[in-house]
Amino acid sequence: MAILVCGGAGYVGSHCLKELERNGVECIVLDNLSRGHREAVGTTPLLLGDLGDEAFLEEVFSSHTFEGVMHFAASSLVGESVQKPLDYYENNLGCTMNLLKAMHRHGVSSIVFSSSAAVYGEPEIAPIPEDSPCSPTNPYGETKLAMERLMHWCEKAYGIRYISLRYFNAAGADLQGFLGEDHNPETHLIPLVLQAALGLREAVTVFGQDYPTPDGSCIRDYIHVQDLAQAHWLALKRLLEGGESGIFNLGSQHGMSVLEIVETAKQVTGVDFPVKAGPRRPGDPAVLIASSEKAKKELGWNPCYSDPQTILATAWRWHQAHPQGYQTKK
Ligand code: UDP
Repeated sequence: MAILVCGGAGYVGSHCLKELERNGVECIVLDNLSRGHREAVGTTPLLLGDLGDEAFLEEVFSSHTFEGVMHFAASSLVGESVQKPLDYYENNLGCTMNLLKAMHRHGVSSIVFSSSAAVYGEPEIAPIPEDSPCSPTNPYGETKLAMERLMHWCEKAYGIRYISLRYFNAAGADLQGFLGEDHNPETHLIPLVLQAALGLREAVTVFGQDYPTPDGSCIRDYIHVQDLAQAHWLALKRLLEGGESGIFNLGSQHGMSVLEIVETAKQVTGVDFPVKAGPRRPGDPAVLIASSEKAKKELGWNPCYSDPQTILATAWRWHQAHPQGYQTKK
């Protein structure tokens, strides 16, 4: 019996894979390597293929016995989703439908799902609890919400229990320095800042200085990827022990502005890299901060690496050792 880790070669997926294996769970990764990296999977078996390919999925589920599924495989760029909504619905919702159909056919009844703070849209309050209204402002957030609703109905109809984890800003890198964040193209603030510190980019651009925040830049809730990994392990354990479905926010409950991240990065790296002011990025809410009380109370989650120094120090270590990212580009 194994756990099928869909998207296990990606940033969050690979860190969670490592945490599951550290806890003695046998894993098999399914990934098309469109955004992920073979190197991030290490020695775990990798089934190279696409969730969009139903015949491939049928073959995967027929030739293995899975106790549960972890589902990280999705497109996740807000801006791209606005330009390519059809691709996002197809790749995110369509592929999740295929996965749930295969689980239903083969009697696999537990799934841990990567959701996102993007389901909330422009929140009215901070910190945001799970019962806040969901009103996504882009196709990415819409598809995450649609996948949550699909799992809700699949539980009612077929008994597939699910835990949906709504991440805020995943950040940082593996504590041992083996895994890190490598996107192409890179759009996330922390890797961009560290690439500027390495001299690989001319400057960091701060998107918007006129937000209604103390320093005028956007505030986000950065959560260490190792803390996310612990939450995934706890969620999986709950489902495998027969526990209930649920939806949980995962954040540090602490907001950092873009300018504060830049300042902390300068301290951690010791490099005074250039910073430019730029216009707002369309679709960016001013403030996103999670309430994660529910995950702490119900899952026993205990995030302990999400202070800005640890996030930046672990990410910096990985970026210094991997200035061009992973060696294997596929
Ligand atoms: N950001 C920025 N400059 C950049 C990239 C991002 O000012 O080059 C800001 C962005 O507007 C947001 C925050 O940094 O307020 C975090 O953005 P990121 O893309 O890392 O994550 P998101 O919040 O979009 O999931």
